[in-house]
Amino acid sequence: MGDVIVRNINSIKPFIPRNNTKISDSIIESLQLDNLRESEKGHLLQHITQVDLYLDTIFNHLSNNEKKQISIYGNNLELNTSKILYLLEKLLKIKEIFLFSNDLLLYPKVINEIKAMYKIYEINEECVYFIHLNYTQILTNNTLDKIKSESIIDINSDNCIFKITINVPLINEQFEIVFDFFIQLSIPVIYIFIVEQEKDIELFDMLISEYNLENYEIKPVYTGINLTLFKDNVFVNEKDIMSSQVSAKEISIRKEINPNFFGKIAILPNGKISFDLQKSNYTEIFDNSLYKQIYNEITEGEGLWKLTRDKVEPCKTCMYKFLCPPISEYELKLKSFNLCTYN
Ligand code: SF4
Repeated sequence: MGDVIVRNINSIKPFIPRNNTKISDSIIESLQLDNLRESEKGHLLQHITQVDLYLDTIFNHLSNNEKKQISIYGNNLELNTSKILYLLEKLLKIKEIFLFSNDLLLYPKVINEIKAMYKIYEINEECVYFIHLNYTQILTNNTLDKIKSESIIDINSDNCIFKITINVPLINEQFEIVFDFFIQLSIPVIYIFIVEQEKDIELFDMLISEYNLENYEIKPVYTGINLTLFKDNVFVNEKDIMSSQVSAKEISIRKEINPNFFGKIAILPNGKISFDLQKSNYTEIFDNSLYKQIYNEITEGEGLWKLTRDKVEPCKTCMYKFLCPPISEYELKLKSFNLCTYN
């Protein structure tokens, strides 16, 4: 990866990439965690840039372990929007809020709360809301549900994008109705195709061509019995790594933090905050434990925010550890840190 340069032959200094991640500044270093001033609390909060917000307790896309950890707080968590909004308004650097709910379209109260959240956009214009829905949620008896479709129109705004998940078995007629609805109203949508088996990829490929879809993501989901799908489609091989064009800046970021997780928290309906849903330690909004947890994530590097490949087996001894993509959600769910055919 490097060259030895003989200085008396070539006087030009080698290029040394600067570390562009400034995550441990003098303010952080001098913090007295037991006696934080308001300005210091505000400074710590600005490290949060992404929030997964659960509006009810249907956590369909989470792993069994994540659901188990959440269930410690019961299965019927009351939505405490005023508490959550109070926090969100203080997150001035927040870029993305992902809203999850099983049937938010049926609850005017939740819809109004979502619209109330848009006010945060007035404070931070960069903030985008992603609303997750399954395509079948918009329908009743194979037709567009009036209340639900009106809810979507009501929620739609400049800073909101709907993420519509499509899973198998796919019901073509239903997908067509949903697709037409969003097209006719010019509502921005990203389709998320949930893949469990190889044949799902072919099916969705045909759908993508048929509807000429441009905004979509293919999301393989680990079911416990489909490791082959990951080996064939997700694992990187040596050729992939060598051909990836990773900039010096990106490498220096990957040495310090995990860009997939840094700045990310999950908020449960009752306002409890998790930095890692695989673990049972939650913090309270505006409790000192929140600030301590942010501080720990930034400085100690034991959590997800700084989960870099040089901390896990077998990547820590691998020559490609900073060329490989950062550790992903998939690896956490598979409980294996070598999504590659190399090691
Ligand atoms: S062992 Fe880890 S760092 Fe090495 S190629 Fe595999 S995933 Fe990448």
